[in-house]
Amino acid sequence: MAETVRIAVIPGDGIGQEVIPEAIHLLRAIAERRGLALELWPLDLGADRYLRDGTTLPTKTFEELRDTCQAILVGALGDPRVPSNEHARDILFGFRFGLDLYANIRPVRCLADRLSPLKAHGADAIDLVVFRENTEGLYVGVGGQVRRGTPDEIAINEDINTRKGVERILRAAFDHAVAHGKKRVHMADKSNAMRHAHELWLRAFREVAREYPTVEPVHVYVDALCLYMVQDPRSIEVVVTCNLFGDIITDLGAALQGGLGMAASMNVHPGRRPALFEPVHGSAPNIAGQDLANPFASALTVGMLLGWLGHQDLEGIVERCVRDCVLAGECTRDVGGALGTRAAAEALRGRVLRALG
Ligand code: ATP
Repeated sequence: MAETVRIAVIPGDGIGQEVIPEAIHLLRAIAERRGLALELWPLDLGADRYLRDGTTLPTKTFEELRDTCQAILVGALGDPRVPSNEHARDILFGFRFGLDLYANIRPVRCLADRLSPLKAHGADAIDLVVFRENTEGLYVGVGGQVRRGTPDEIAINEDINTRKGVERILRAAFDHAVAHGKKRVHMADKSNAMRHAHELWLRAFREVAREYPTVEPVHVYVDALCLYMVQDPRSIEVVVTCNLFGDIITDLGAALQGGLGMAASMNVHPGRRPALFEPVHGSAPNIAGQDLANPFASALTVGMLLGWLGHQDLEGIVERCVRDCVLAGECTRDVGGALGTRAAAEALRGRVLRALG
């Protein structure tokens, strides 16, 4: 008997509450058809819970999850009723830092020519993956404000880069390149302007690259990378970069693959479990509750999760079926269809089940 895989599920806020139930429906259907033993553990965490009783991420829940789960599936966290975003920070940072999920991995694959916004390039030119450092950089929250609210106000956010932190994300990117037969890794920094922090990135990149003789290391300034992603996306296979730049270029990446409704991601400490899987999009309060959200980003995220659990064939099937739905117009408006969230998810599920036989 295969070991039961325990997955914690946090639909969270906004459209997370619409797309994650559909993703779970898909996951259950696949598991049933393939005889996979899954135990899904739904967690009532997010803005509603926070507003009800002030709970964000209880220590006991975190510990049980850390000790018993192989994966965490999150929808989105963010709600206009919680302007401080305290619940989202506690939950996401709680997992990210508590589990030391230092690699945020975001594939950028365009599945249909129609989704490519580039007039010179079709879908086949857009196939890259971004490794974003996830535990350091400008997002660690070190800093402060002085003379707040006065004309002499000073605001500081420190950019934290450790040798260990930089080296391990670089290695994760090179390891991925080797494992997937990729020819080159682009490291995007701003070492011409950020002469201390990013000089460390550049030096570490050159040193780590020597351990991977089959992979060409390409150093690029992040502004130039944005240009190449649009002008010559075919030349880019694997990108590794810091927290801030990774955040920005993956939105550009999402645009290249048809928008936020098509972008999946995972947060992982390679070699450890659990990992956290989430669509790249946020809670999108402007469309929440209207059956408008594209469920495919979450479906592709479930695909990534299955791939990470060792079922690469199932990941491939989910991706191909999403592509076929888009090509057939069985999709939501953001990607050129006319279906609602539920109908698009149902069309996808039908295709996946037919593909599974
Ligand atoms: P948050 O504050 O939680 O990050 P947000 O609205 O600021 O939410 P996103 O949800 O990431 O940011 O998305 C920005 C916009 O992209 C949304 O307002 C919505 O119009 C569109 N969008 C995002 N996700 C989807 C989706 N799954 N389907 C359709 N449109 C989407």
